[in-house]
Amino acid sequence: MNLTAKCRSCGAAILWCQTTTGKKMPVDEKPVAGGNLTLDGECDCLVAVVVGPGKGTHVSHYATCPHAGLHRKVKGQGSLPGVG
Ligand SMILES: [Zn+2]
Repeated sequence: MNLTAKCRSCGAAILWCQTTTGKKMPVDEKPVAGGNLTLDGECDCLVAVVVGPGKGTHVSHYATCPHAGLHRKVKGQGSLPGVG
């Protein structure tokens, strides 16, 4: 399994990680000072562990993507009454 990928929205290099709850989450490939995640390698999958602001080495791509709104669709919006 290839863990590295590019964001479909902005083209940034990302890593597909699992959260400690088993969900998939894109994480910026580049380490940053003051991130809130650390990455744990387990076999062929990376686990992103939230350690708190400023204590980690990485950040979720959701936090840095200029098009994060495309990833997180807001419920209840996008459909107007009487349309569609
Ligand atoms: Zn992006």
